[in-house]
Amino acid sequence: MIPSVLPTYNRAPLTFVEGAGAWLTEADGRRFLDMGAGIAVNALGHAHPALVAALTEQAGRLWHVSNLYRIPEQEALADRLVAETFADTVFFTNSGTESLELAVKMARKHWHAAGEDRPEIVTFGGAFHGRSTAAIAAAGSEKMTAGFGPLMPGFVHVPWGDHEALRAAVTERTAAVLIEPVQGEGGIRPLPDQCLRGLRELCDATGALLILDEVQCGMGRTGRLFAHEWAGVAPDIMMVAKGIGGGFPLGAVLATERAGSAMTAGTHGATYGGNPLACAVGLRVMEIVADPGFLETVRTRGAELRAGLERLVAAHPEVFEAVRGRGMMLGLKCRLPAAEVMTAGFAEDVITVPAADNVLRLLPPLTLTAAEAEEALARLDCAARAARAAAEAA
Ligand SMILES: *Cc1c(COP(=O)(O)O)cnc(C)c1O
Repeated sequence: MIPSVLPTYNRAPLTFVEGAGAWLTEADGRRFLDMGAGIAVNALGHAHPALVAALTEQAGRLWHVSNLYRIPEQEALADRLVAETFADTVFFTNSGTESLELAVKMARKHWHAAGEDRPEIVTFGGAFHGRSTAAIAAAGSEKMTAGFGPLMPGFVHVPWGDHEALRAAVTERTAAVLIEPVQGEGGIRPLPDQCLRGLRELCDATGALLILDEVQCGMGRTGRLFAHEWAGVAPDIMMVAKGIGGGFPLGAVLATERAGSAMTAGTHGATYGGNPLACAVGLRVMEIVADPGFLETVRTRGAELRAGLERLVAAHPEVFEAVRGRGMMLGLKCRLPAAEVMTAGFAEDVITVPAADNVLRLLPPLTLTAAEAEEALARLDCAARAARAAAEAA
C-alpha cells in the first residue's frame, strides 16, 4: 500500500522534535549537531530568537493580504536587497524552483520585448535548479527527467568545465546562460572566479544575459552575501531562496532594470510570494547576514572548518579523498559511499547531507561557534573510523 506521504524521498529514520542553534533534538532525546541546516536553509540555526520574534510579532498582526495590495514588509526587504546587491528590482517567490521559473520567463521576455528571436538558455552538467518541469529540463539530467517528457524545449546543455563547448553553445539565439557559482546538489563544485569572469565577458560579447542560481550558495553561505561577489562580477538576474527565509519558505529573483523591465503588470504572479510573514522573517535574516562583521565570522569559521576537514582527509585516506567548497559550503569527496559515511555520522549524532559525485556536504548554520565546529569534526572523525570498520567487516 502506498504510504500516506507520497514516498518520493528516501528518509533517514530520524524524527527531530526541537531545535536550538546548531542543535537538533531527536524524539528519543539524543542531541544532534546539525551540519546540514535543512539543506542550507536554517542559515541562522534553529529557533533564532530574532527570527522567532519577527515571525510571532507579524503573526499576531497580519498574515496575508495577497499581492493585490502594497506589503510594507515586502517593500522593505526588496529595498534592502537592492541596496546590498547589483539588483534594481526584486520579485518574491516561495522557493528556488519558483525563482527558476521566473528567471527563465524574464530572460525570454527580455528578448521578446527587444524584438529578437533568442529563446535558448545554456545550462551546465551537474546543475540543479529545482523540480518543476522547466527546472528539470534546465538541469537536464536523466535521473530527474526520466518519465516526465515531453520536456520543455530551449535548454542547451554544456558539460561542466568544458570551455570550448560553452563557447560553441552561446550564440545569437542565446537568451541567457544559467549557472550556480558553487554547484550544491552536483557535489559542492565551485566555479573558479576567473571562469565566472570569463563567462561574464562571454555574455557581454554575445549579448546573452547571465543568470546566477544562488539558491544554495547565496545569503552569506560562502562568506560573502552572494557568492559571485568573490569574482567581482555581477549577473543580470539572480535566483535566491533557501537561506533567505531562515526556515520560512521564501525565495526571490533579483534583476537589473535592463533585464527585468519587460516583466510588466500581468506578466507574472504568485499568490503567496512575498507575503507579510515570509518577508518579516526575511528582512530580519537580511539585517543579520548582510552585516560585514557577520560575514567576516562566516569566513573565519569556514576556514577553521575547512582546515579541520583537511585533517580528516589526511587521517582517513581510505574514507575521504578531498575537501571542496567555499566558506561554510563545504564538501568531502568520499572514497567509501558518502551515504555510508553520513549514516555512520548519524550514529555519532552529527548530521551531514549527501550530494552527487559521492560528496558529503557540510552546510551548517552560519552561526556555528568555533567549539561546535570542533565538536562536529570530532564526531565526523569517529564516524569515519566506524564507516571504515564497517566497510572492512563487510
Ligand atoms: C535547492 C535548490 C533549488 C530548488 O529550490 P527549492 O526551494 O527546493 O525549489 C534550486 N537551485 C539550487 C542551486 C538549489 O540548491
